[in-house]
Amino acid sequence: MRKRGVAAPSRLAAASVARYPRRDGSVKPLRAGKGGRALSVQEVRDARYDVVPSRRGLVKAVTWQGRRDLVVADVPDPRIEEPTDAIVRITSTAICGSDLHLYELLGPFLEKGDILGHESMGIVEEVGTEVTSLRVGQRVVVPFNIACGTCFMCRRGLQSQCETTQNVQFGTGASLFGYTKLYGQVPGGQAELLRVPRADYNTIPVGTDLPDERYLFLSDILPTAWQGVEYADIPDGGTVVVLGLGPVGQLAARIAAHRGHRVIGIDPVPERREMAARHGIEAWESDDEAAYVSEATDGRGADAVIDAVGMEAHGSPLAHAAHRVAAVMPDAIARPVMEHAGIDRLAALYAGIDMVRRGGTLSISGVYAGDGDILPMKTMFDKQLTVRMGQCNVKRWIDDLMPLVEDDRDPIGLGHLVTHRGTLEDAPGLYETFQKKVDGCIKVVLRPDDRDGRAAHTTAATGVKPLPQEADSGQAGEPGGS
Ligand code: NAD
Ligand code: ZN
Ligand code: ZN
Repeated sequence: MRKRGVAAPSRLAAASVARYPRRDGSVKPLRAGKGGRALSVQEVRDARYDVVPSRRGLVKAVTWQGRRDLVVADVPDPRIEEPTDAIVRITSTAICGSDLHLYELLGPFLEKGDILGHESMGIVEEVGTEVTSLRVGQRVVVPFNIACGTCFMCRRGLQSQCETTQNVQFGTGASLFGYTKLYGQVPGGQAELLRVPRADYNTIPVGTDLPDERYLFLSDILPTAWQGVEYADIPDGGTVVVLGLGPVGQLAARIAAHRGHRVIGIDPVPERREMAARHGIEAWESDDEAAYVSEATDGRGADAVIDAVGMEAHGSPLAHAAHRVAAVMPDAIARPVMEHAGIDRLAALYAGIDMVRRGGTLSISGVYAGDGDILPMKTMFDKQLTVRMGQCNVKRWIDDLMPLVEDDRDPIGLGHLVTHRGTLEDAPGLYETFQKKVDGCIKVVLRPDDRDGRAAHTTAATGVKPLPQEADSGQAGEPGGS
């Protein structure tokens, strides 16, 4: 094992820790220190990492360099900048469909070197002097919103609109990790270490018994899916259509089914439909979906539609061409065009407006970014639709979700979503795999501390595995676990 620098002991508070999660999140009881005393934080760390990387050196991070161009670079390790900050050593960090918008389209709002990633969890490594509820060594999930918890918006459960971290100069809501200048240009979590501002509020402490992948999705896609279902306001025994069976759509469909609704999931990608079908979802292709939904609902349409696709929908040829043009414009020209023109590909949204019944609800989880999009207002008004949308307010839903996440039966099937795992170094290749939807890729998790690379390229292989094998790759056979 390569020796690396050891953190300065003076920066570490002593703490007694009896159990400590391994890199896959499972727990091996640690032997007590000499004389049966509790282990110091330093001893606990050394047991886990052998030796910890220098805190005055460089850490690895996934950086954006241009359209479809990512580099895993050594960057200065993040420091406590405000007394309310914490530094978290990342154990797992996922790639999100929202990252694909940065990868493909939103380059004009990024700068070379920006660190990506907003679905992360890990172990608290260091805390500022005003952090009161976290301790070094604690295992936490980091929500993608950065919020204060006390302002007008946060008190109303609208953390994605937090007035303390809003980006007023761009007219946008709360800051987000790893998500462009529009949202604060905050370095993201696809890195070995992450600085978490306002750490008491912007962390979710979790237990030590379950693997990372049971908790990780609390950072984003699980509450996003939950909010999508809440906003859909599906009546008892009602039917909901979930458009898009990427990670967000998969979880939204499972949550709606868990609540007893009839769920029709629609996606052009066969293995995404097959994964949904394995979880009891009626899955359908996205070519004649309107006719299918009409027939399935006595010609009335679905009580609700959840759009889990967003601005890069397939089947929008004109807007697709506009994306290509915007991608080659100089940033200074592209930025206003993208913000004010109709840049979004609206095929899924239009399909949703068609498929929802009169008086029904359209719940939009997919991200849209243009202000000049043309919506069929006559149809929407005439059908008397309710439309709800927005970034997820992660913290709002955690109390509802934690019992499901920690339920031994795993009712949402969180252990059956990840198809690809790798180290940070694998990120460029895995972004491409995820974007192109090849190799059966549905959800990717990166493990920065998987130093011996055992997680690398653990894939669903080609084709679709039945549930027991998913369970093997998702939990029992956790790659990288030891
Ligand atoms: P994803 O890109 O893997 O999923 C999108 C899915 O939509 C794909 O499976 C794709 O095949 C499918 N699709 C494309 N065109 C379609 C069409 N016309 N009809 C039906 N399906 C179509 O990404 P994801 O991680 O599941 O994210 C989905 C969306 O949710 C993205 O826009 C992402 O930015 C957004 N998102 C929003 C929030 C939030 O807070 N609101 C949080 C996370 C993700
Ligand atoms: Zn996300
Ligand atoms: Zn706030």
